[in-house]
Amino acid sequence: MSAASLSGDGARPAGDGARPAGDDSQPAGDGAQPDLFDVAIVGAGPGGMTAAIYASRARLTTVVLERNTAGGIMNVTERIENYPGFPAGITGFELSELMKQQAIEFGADLREITSVVALEQRPGGGWLVVTDEETVAARAVVLSPGVEARRLGVPGEAEFMGHGVSYCATCDGPLYRDKEVVVIGGGDSAVEEGMFLARFASTVHVIHRREELRAAKIAQERAFAQPNMHFHWNGQVRAIVGETKVEAVDYEDLLDHSQHTLPVAGVFFYVGQLPNTDFLQDVVALDENGYIVTDEHLRTSRPGLFACGDARAGLIKQIANAVGEGALAAIEAEKYLDTLDFEAQQASVAATGTPEPAAG
Ligand code: NAP
Repeated sequence: MSAASLSGDGARPAGDGARPAGDDSQPAGDGAQPDLFDVAIVGAGPGGMTAAIYASRARLTTVVLERNTAGGIMNVTERIENYPGFPAGITGFELSELMKQQAIEFGADLREITSVVALEQRPGGGWLVVTDEETVAARAVVLSPGVEARRLGVPGEAEFMGHGVSYCATCDGPLYRDKEVVVIGGGDSAVEEGMFLARFASTVHVIHRREELRAAKIAQERAFAQPNMHFHWNGQVRAIVGETKVEAVDYEDLLDHSQHTLPVAGVFFYVGQLPNTDFLQDVVALDENGYIVTDEHLRTSRPGLFACGDARAGLIKQIANAVGEGALAAIEAEKYLDTLDFEAQQASVAATGTPEPAAG
């Protein structure tokens, strides 16, 4: 299947990996023709990039739209030890780069720093994916917008963002060499990123609202054995305080309601994640937490829209899982396009007595 045979309106063959010369694609509605692809992938995390590899290898013209740089939150994960094939572990950045390279080599057109703001049905079929820069058209779309760090919403959190408050140990950890920092949360992110911070900081305090961590057991064992990590159980952070930058964290002991102040230079929040699905509110069915609902074929509530990765309402949030879902979403999108082509052939035969010219 080729885009040209599908569209007849300027789609490009797979494999060029670049915008057309003199690309003048414009937001829909101003008369310009948007680029047309077989598949548009929204988000270049591990799910999106795997979908791109599969779709491109299936010779579907494929564009990947990513609001930051490829990799998603994997990109800011210091060390990944549970993705098969890397027994010594690999940094999130390295794994992102390898996936990106593989997708581009098979012909995916990766467009980074491009935020998708809306998704609209395309007159005549397919979807228009509207970004802050351009609009592209696609016959099928794989939604893999991923998640972002949840804010706790305590006083001082927003005020000191970038001045001691962070959501990314990988990015900001080295700034806290020989200083005391606090990590808030008890999940995999809090414990793993806390371990990373322990390489630089003199002390890493972990404030967790319960007495038991949620993180994987192996990560817990390592953290408990780390001499400069200190756990403050049953603690709820109430405020981040300081003059012009973070100087301390106020927290409450939830058992006896005593109030405590911990002098620290940095605060790292890992209190869960939120799906990046605002632009999908009125487009596809979302669950009560904003995650995209699909069936087992990763079909959303709208035809031609598939979803994979952390923003999908699934049971676990793992890179290996996102990769599997990305493969399935692309294969299902391909089947969907094959069905559309078959139906178009049938309609053509019924109307004219001759089939449409063969694809490609
Ligand atoms: P998470 O698993 O949802 O953990 C969030 C943590 O924040 C929990 O410990 C939770 O406490 C705490 N929390 C939530 N709301 C809070 C509040 N209002 N006040 C205080 N504490 C609050 O989030 P995550 O660690 O970012 O992980 C997200 C997903 O990615 C998970 O599925 C995780 O397994 C996965 N992940 C996997 C790996 C890996 O496999 N290596 C690495 C990173 C993330 P409670 O425990 O009391 O609910």
